[in-house]
Amino acid sequence: MSDCLFCGIVDGKVKATVVYQDERLVAFKDINPKAPVHILIIPRKHVSSVLDISADDGALIGEIFQIAARLAREQGIADSGFRVVVNSGADSGQTVFHLHYHLLGGRRMSWPPG
Ligand code: AMP
Ligand code: ZN
Repeated sequence: MSDCLFCGIVDGKVKATVVYQDERLVAFKDINPKAPVHILIIPRKHVSSVLDISADDGALIGEIFQIAARLAREQGIADSGFRVVVNSGADSGQTVFHLHYHLLGGRRMSWPPG
């Protein structure tokens, strides 16, 4: 989508610190990190939110979690603990409408989230 910020990152038109990429996914550092490790994992294809995930996307979503685990190990937060978060819609605080999984870790987090 031409007016989508994260499609811009996928296309290389918007700069980001990319930590992982393959044919289906890109992972990059969040520009306004909420924890010592804060990485966003996104599909290359534009999916607006959790509500737009289709039955065909099962393997893609599975791969996102595999990459989240791999990055958690690489970033040294696998043993201390981490969170994988997806905001969806206004009440959640979603601000970018291209599906993204937040990988957060490196500090103690409270529950429930605010
Ligand atoms: P959400 O509120 O779940 O939609 O999360 C959007 C996230 O994207 C926020 O944590 C922002 O800090 C992050 N973000 C916005 N613009 C950029 C950018 N250009 N590069 C990296 N992260 C970004
Ligand atoms: Zn997009």
